[in-house]
Amino acid sequence: MSSPLISRMQPFGTTIFAEMSALATRTGAINLGQGFPDTDGPREMLDAAKAAIDGGRNQYPPGPGVPELLDAIAAHQERFYGLRVDPGSQVLVTVGATEAIAAVVLALCEPGDEVVTFEPYYDSYAATIALAGATRRTSVLRFPDFAVDEASLRTAFSNRTRLVLLNTPHNPTGKVFTRAELEVVAALAREHDAWVVTDEVYEHLVFDDAQHIPMATLPGMADRTVTISSGGKTFSATGWKVGWLTGPAEAVAAARTVKQFLTYVGSGPFQPAVAVALGLGDDVYGELASSLQAKRDLLCDALRASGLTVSQPRGTYFVVADAAPLGAVDALEFARGLPELAGVVGVPVSVFHDDQEAARTLIRFAFCKRDEVLTEASRRLAAAGPS
Ligand code: PMP
Ligand code: GLN
Repeated sequence: MSSPLISRMQPFGTTIFAEMSALATRTGAINLGQGFPDTDGPREMLDAAKAAIDGGRNQYPPGPGVPELLDAIAAHQERFYGLRVDPGSQVLVTVGATEAIAAVVLALCEPGDEVVTFEPYYDSYAATIALAGATRRTSVLRFPDFAVDEASLRTAFSNRTRLVLLNTPHNPTGKVFTRAELEVVAALAREHDAWVVTDEVYEHLVFDDAQHIPMATLPGMADRTVTISSGGKTFSATGWKVGWLTGPAEAVAAARTVKQFLTYVGSGPFQPAVAVALGLGDDVYGELASSLQAKRDLLCDALRASGLTVSQPRGTYFVVADAAPLGAVDALEFARGLPELAGVVGVPVSVFHDDQEAARTLIRFAFCKRDEVLTEASRRLAAAGPS
């Protein structure tokens, strides 16, 4: 019998994250594949979730989100970026950033519309664009500096462009888009009267002198930009699935209409807890970033010492390395064999590309792990490396 799965979803099968985490479990290898921290977020947030459960907040929350979280998200946008959004009409709480992406893309795109995005792209972008019946048009960010190629970006736009799906800081490359790069994207979006949907889930995970610049802060862009983030990333609680989007009231209302029929509502007792976390002091945000920066340095130094070329990430908790010196020829095959070769799991960057050639030997490693785990993974990779 032919596959029961609709044809436009057939290319998507099982996500690479599920495949690689299952591989790690099966082989006992250290899992630097799927991006999730192995330590917990702020104590105040964890306590607030327990208190919410004990306090009986276990039924459906209101559709747009619980009031204290809507207020906390609005306050966060103003505190960090000077962006003013009305919590009643310009904020929507979602089941992780994943649902925010789905709700807004499904709300804004018709079959025949085109969505411009950079590749490598986060896997749900391609699947969600396909679900909407829209078409993705991409511009490649190339290893090792992953700079925006303005000419190729321009050719990705057309009179069918409905929206640009941007991600900064960027998974998997660790790139933080510069103001000049964002201005190029913004100018093209304005020229084509397109929406910009910007996935900023790693907004607080930036290193060195890198600065996260929200697209909505660029002149004239707040009116055409929907901004997405997630408590899972900022506060090391990926399993809670508390995400949100903010933007112009009419776009938020459109996303809310769709969201009602995806999940209706979600994450009941975790919503007030993330509201508490968003209100914590700058020291808490700073500590999360500085501890990750030290982990980045630990893993990147070790990968370099093992003879790999590494693109130094300026944000996120991922690093992309060229595994050619370890014998990689095809990234997916190499990643599937890496537990046996080195007792470590990484993610092949090629699965985030249409242009396979651009990432033929590139592997993404997650460094949001305890130092002893990173040290042991480094030791194993060095042992497998060229002598
Ligand atoms: N966007 C990007 C770029 C991500 O890396 C992730 C998950 N790691 C998500 C969205 C999904 O976030 P959530 O878990 O909140 O759904
Ligand atoms: N976003 C995480 C990553 O890039 C994984 C999330 C997922 O498994 N869908 O690794």
